[in-house]
Amino acid sequence: PPIQKMVEYANLARKSLRTNTTTHIAVYDERVYTQLIRAGKIEQSMKNAMAQHEFKAFIQPKYNLETGQIVGAEALVRWIREDGSMIYPDDFIPIFEKNGFIVELDFFILGEVCRMIQRRLQGKRHCVPISINQSRVLLQEKDYVKRVADILKKYDTPPRYIELELTERIFRDDLTDLAKMMGELRNLGIRWSIDDFGTGYSNYGYMRDKIFDIVKVDRSFITDIDKQRNNYLMVSFIIKMAHEMGLHVCIEGVETKEELACVRELGADYIQGYYYGKPVCVADFEEQHLKKLILG
Ligand code: C2E
Ligand code: CA
Ligand code: CA
Repeated sequence: PPIQKMVEYANLARKSLRTNTTTHIAVYDERVYTQLIRAGKIEQSMKNAMAQHEFKAFIQPKYNLETGQIVGAEALVRWIREDGSMIYPDDFIPIFEKNGFIVELDFFILGEVCRMIQRRLQGKRHCVPISINQSRVLLQEKDYVKRVADILKKYDTPPRYIELELTERIFRDDLTDLAKMMGELRNLGIRWSIDDFGTGYSNYGYMRDKIFDIVKVDRSFITDIDKQRNNYLMVSFIIKMAHEMGLHVCIEGVETKEELACVRELGADYIQGYYYGKPVCVADFEEQHLKKLILG
């Protein structure tokens, strides 16, 4: 190809590198190209998608092992396009974290969750605490704490119904400012979870500092836990450590009854996984999971 094109390709390959990567070499191939085209399309349509209400909060239940009761849920974003096709968060969250749109999206999902809680409580119906994923980018917003508090106020949502999830990976960075912000929201009654626990390679200073309430053990430890002795031992160790420190443990990604049996043996507090229910739209979540709560 002519020089001009080669420079363009090299540039595309360069842009395909994630900002947080440790690699300094990028190679151009067809895949880089298609990925960049995809990312470009997503960026072009994201604002319009927000205006057209194409982003939806899907909800996945968390159950208590002992009682078999629903005890909470997690909101997971879905992008449902005009033609009804669905895009999963792994395909757009990384892009939105790069271009900053994640801030708007995460506040929107928090608002949607609060709106649902408000509607239920005003209708004198039960609800459970719902957790919302918070991106690292979001926490760098100057008025983050105030904006969260304002959204709860706007929808009359008691803070005990809100739980915020932070992936363990963000605790590689300096904790001072983060811990302060988390403390402010915690004082209001909001709870914090460490997501993807076991995958962050962090220093565990933040465990000692007691800024969390719940540990969510990463799904990779649960897959085949009934067959993988080392996974079993790891989860056993994590649960013991968390309980000793007064934290609750949520096990993610339980799919089979064999996995469930192992997790029960280990004494986890909550279970979230396909075994109890996949993420579904708000209406289905209320119908399939919250209805039982009223009867039970
Ligand atoms: P996550 O926070 O670790 O969420 C759990 C993921 O595991 C979800 O994928 C969920 O659908 C999936 N999952 C739950 N139970 C099972 C199971 O039994 N088996 C299997 N195979 N998978 C299960 P999802 O919805 O595709 O979300 C992927 C990731 O995208 C999330 O991982 C989270 O990091 C991010 N994400 C999702 N929604 C939001 C959001 O609103 N804001 C931000 N910042 N990130 C979000
Ligand atoms: Ca999560
Ligand atoms: Ca997780």
